[in-house]
Amino acid sequence: MSQLSAESIVAAGPFSDWLRKMRRSLKGDEGMDVPCGDCVGCCVSGYSLQLRPEDHKAAARIPATFIVRAEGFAKGNLTVRALENGLCPMLDDGKCSIYSVRPQTCLDYDCRIFAAAGIDAGGEDKAVINKRVREWRFSYPERTDELEHAAVRAAATFIRDRRDSFTVRVPAGSMGIAVFAIKAYEVFLDPATSAKQEAEVARAIIDAVRAFDSNGA
Ligand code: SF4
Ligand code: SF4
Repeated sequence: MSQLSAESIVAAGPFSDWLRKMRRSLKGDEGMDVPCGDCVGCCVSGYSLQLRPEDHKAAARIPATFIVRAEGFAKGNLTVRALENGLCPMLDDGKCSIYSVRPQTCLDYDCRIFAAAGIDAGGEDKAVINKRVREWRFSYPERTDELEHAAVRAAATFIRDRRDSFTVRVPAGSMGIAVFAIKAYEVFLDPATSAKQEAEVARAIIDAVRAFDSNGA
């Protein structure tokens, strides 16, 4: 990571509070409230935007020419494709033109997840987000905050670097790795994990992800 000036540091909040909220968000129980400030990284980074049926107010404001049906999102959902230059078509003069009714995807996206996992959001096309990711600074009011952040980072590093240890397919993209790490970080809170075979750790991660997906945060 590059050297940062004091001005380029942005408070991300206490780590464990953020982690609980993110886990609830991943369950669909609540959205994230990201202190984005003037950043529009999400809106200029080439993301396709998922439009769910409940995003009808946003859909009504988006010209039909930008809306397509695309593979990869849940059945029935539509997609707003980014422009060739990576900008969301609803970005106008550096601001979201449908901010008050922006889709849930925009409300849910929290780039602190990459800071939590200790990884970039992606390559050059995600440079604006990567910059913000490097600026976030979590705080650690309790020892638990430090331990949980270390565990999330360790989980992300394992999933990214030990793909061969898994017998099932695991995410290769930054967001997928970070989400897995948030779901399975508790594996790395256990001091015994460091003495286990990699295949055993990989199994524990998959079990933790499945338990999260079936039981909740
Ligand atoms: S990149 Fe992060 S800070 Fe910037 S708009 Fe997106 S979520 Fe907010
Ligand atoms: S709809 Fe608005 S908030 Fe969402 S990506 Fe487009 S410009 Fe950004």
